[in-house]
Amino acid sequence: MVFSLELSEEQRDLRDWVHGFAVDVVRPAAAEWDEREETPWPVIREAAKIGLYGFESLAELFGDPSGISLQIANEELFWGDAGIGMALFGTSLAVAGIFASGTPDQLAEWVPQCFGDEADPKVAAFCVSEPQAGSDVAAMRTRARYDEARDEWVLAGQKAWITNGGIANVHVVVASVDPSLGSRGQAAFVVPPGTAGLEGAKKIRKLGLRASHTADVFLDDVRVPGHCLLGGKEKLDARLARAREGTAGGRGQAAMSTFEVSRPTVGAQALGIARAAYEYALEYAGDREAFGRPIIENQAIAFALADLRTEIEACRLLIWQAAWMARNDKVFDAGQGSMSKLRAGELAVAASEKAIQVLGGAGYSREHPVERMYRDAKIYTIFEGTSEIQRLVIARAISGRQIR
Ligand SMILES: Cc1cc2nc3c(=O)[nH]c(=O)nc-3n(C[C@H](O)[C@H](O)[C@H](O)COP(=O)(O)OP(=O)(O)OC[C@H]3O[C@@H](n4cnc5c(N)ncnc54)[C@H](O)[C@@H]3O)c2cc1C
Repeated sequence: MVFSLELSEEQRDLRDWVHGFAVDVVRPAAAEWDEREETPWPVIREAAKIGLYGFESLAELFGDPSGISLQIANEELFWGDAGIGMALFGTSLAVAGIFASGTPDQLAEWVPQCFGDEADPKVAAFCVSEPQAGSDVAAMRTRARYDEARDEWVLAGQKAWITNGGIANVHVVVASVDPSLGSRGQAAFVVPPGTAGLEGAKKIRKLGLRASHTADVFLDDVRVPGHCLLGGKEKLDARLARAREGTAGGRGQAAMSTFEVSRPTVGAQALGIARAAYEYALEYAGDREAFGRPIIENQAIAFALADLRTEIEACRLLIWQAAWMARNDKVFDAGQGSMSKLRAGELAVAASEKAIQVLGGAGYSREHPVERMYRDAKIYTIFEGTSEIQRLVIARAISGRQIR
């Protein structure tokens, strides 16, 4: 097979289609929903209407054997706006959680319910973090107890910082079945729509990604049917037995296996923000004059933009490599998934900060979108594993040592 980085016709069409949606629908709505700090339901409905938000389109993106279609779509969508992008993409985090551990029957039952339908779209939530367990997932306190007599699982605890928490149709909850096993004793459960005992707290007011709903979720002895355990009880029992014997493989944990494969995608979102900030600054620098000439004719400005473009191109290749590896079950022998998210997250912050600098005072005002991009970008060094945690993963992978 000839090696090529050229996009296929379908991938080019996908890129142009999502870009068109970002230009026509997302960008014009971005400032409004950022100010309102509310879930942009009209945009979600619009995306559902054209088939961009929904089970089929996500299945197609996941199905691409190169792994990069999902990244292409995310880069374009988040180029449009990251807050609205996350309002649309948050559901996919829960879907990825179902994909990571669920059986084909569970996928067929729950994934469509995550999205709702064209006329009445829904959102879903992936609930891992807790007030005392963010980076340290093993410290999770939410418990899952099996009630054998009723073949039900009982979930109790509190989840923190959950995208779509409380407003989701389907919540995918990671809980500890056997706390003595740390993260190896955890499993993921679907909490079906309308289940008693699950309640979302007040929406958290944030620096950025304001169009995306974030809230704590309380689980007060939430009872779900036995079949809501993703992967099924037999598989869980076998996994727990292996963990107790100390023979468990590294990919057993429900939350970690989701994060591993989703990191390049989160990187692609950050890349979208970086590219948007860079493009805006490039155009502005060509128009804005100081000392009688466009500011881009100063090396200080032109080189900054040259550096940004170089970083953007390099970062995209890293993301595509990691995405290809994840899709084709290659082992991240040097933490490539983490590398892609680390690099892109830090680039989004650096690029949006630089864009503000290039715009000068205009960049600091809400008349231009780069201040919003800067606020939005910061989350990409924090969620789905902070930059420090990504470095920890990479350092452990390359050294084979328990770096702390
Ligand atoms: C907008 C938003 C949306 C989110 N959405 C979701 C969601 O949908 N689902 C979900 O489950 N979670 C979600 N989160 C939670 C997010 O994943 C966590 O905030 C993140 O993992 C960090 O955890 P923490 O906030 O508890 O920080 P902490 O773990 O308390 O970390 C604080 C600081 O200490 C550093 N640190 C911690 N341990 C180490 C170490 N060993 N070495 C070096 N440094 C270390 C961290 O890097 C960080 O700088 C969201 C968060 C936000 C802000």
